[in-house]
Amino acid sequence: MNSSSKHSNKQFSFEFSAPRDSAAIERVKKVHARLNQLSPEFFSVTYGAGGSTRDGTQQAVIELNRLGTPVAAHISFGTDGPEAIGQLINDYRDAGVTRLVALRGDLPSGISQASLTHANDLVAFIRKTTGDHFHIDVAAYPEFHPETERVEDEIRYFKMKVEAGANSAITQYFYNAEAYFNFMELCAAAGITLPIYPGIMPITNYEGLMRFSRNCGADIPRWIEQTLHSYQDDTKSLQAFGEEVVSRLCEQLLDWGAPGLHFYTLNRADPSLRICHNLGLSRQ
Ligand code: FAD
Repeated sequence: MNSSSKHSNKQFSFEFSAPRDSAAIERVKKVHARLNQLSPEFFSVTYGAGGSTRDGTQQAVIELNRLGTPVAAHISFGTDGPEAIGQLINDYRDAGVTRLVALRGDLPSGISQASLTHANDLVAFIRKTTGDHFHIDVAAYPEFHPETERVEDEIRYFKMKVEAGANSAITQYFYNAEAYFNFMELCAAAGITLPIYPGIMPITNYEGLMRFSRNCGADIPRWIEQTLHSYQDDTKSLQAFGEEVVSRLCEQLLDWGAPGLHFYTLNRADPSLRICHNLGLSRQ
């Protein structure tokens, strides 16, 4: 990102939720245009495991990628086999896409499969089929994945994704900087050295954040939850508080040595732009 601030050597990226139709893709393009003014390292587009957003994800990734800044396609096996996913990966390569975010994914409720293919196997599959063409990101969980029972398993399985060929990792969002510092120490002790970018979720809404966080296992510290709860009917105060909390978190992470930040934009430009502005990164 071009900035004269003390964070100018850090990497910033922005994630979009998979648009489901052409109108949604057009809306995402408008958000992309605004965020692109910050010269991020890359954008990424999520993927509904089970293929529920396959067309929307693929179309958005390819169209946005043509606009210049690299766009990473999130990808997972879900209920698909090697043939379908191999085809998707080849299509991305042929369209000039150079980045993937390889995930096990979560199936939408109502679709069941005895066992989903773990991300380490997907990373190995991508390396086997397309060599070093793609830069591969994988997911990391400073507060631990909800299904993980023992901390050593979290680190062991994370290391398997790294050894399968991941280049870097992006974390689940969190609001306790200590969780990230602790996770980085656990990784260092296990000999894991790849860059791990904190995933940042701007706070703009109480109900949605609480629901989403329960599902993905992100902890909302009590003081944040109570303050957001008390601002439920006062959107302006809630968003101002959320912006301050998240900006401070980002500052702390970058000052500590995080290599950059990955913003979960939820397809909105303003919340991420305001945080970037507070960090001294905005050129707008
Ligand atoms: P894995 O790394 O496979 O881990 C899942 C669980 O299994 C963990 O508890 C882990 O400890 C354990 N485990 C890992 N490997 C093994 C193994 N070999 N044997 C036994 N146990 C193992 N979801 C979507 O559906 N679409 C998206 O686009 C999407 N994007 C995301 C982006 C980021 C940056 C992050 C952090 C998450 C994203 N998710 C997305 C959510 C993610 O798919 C879920 O958290 C999912 O439950 C786990 O995916 P994973 O790739 O981390 O899985």
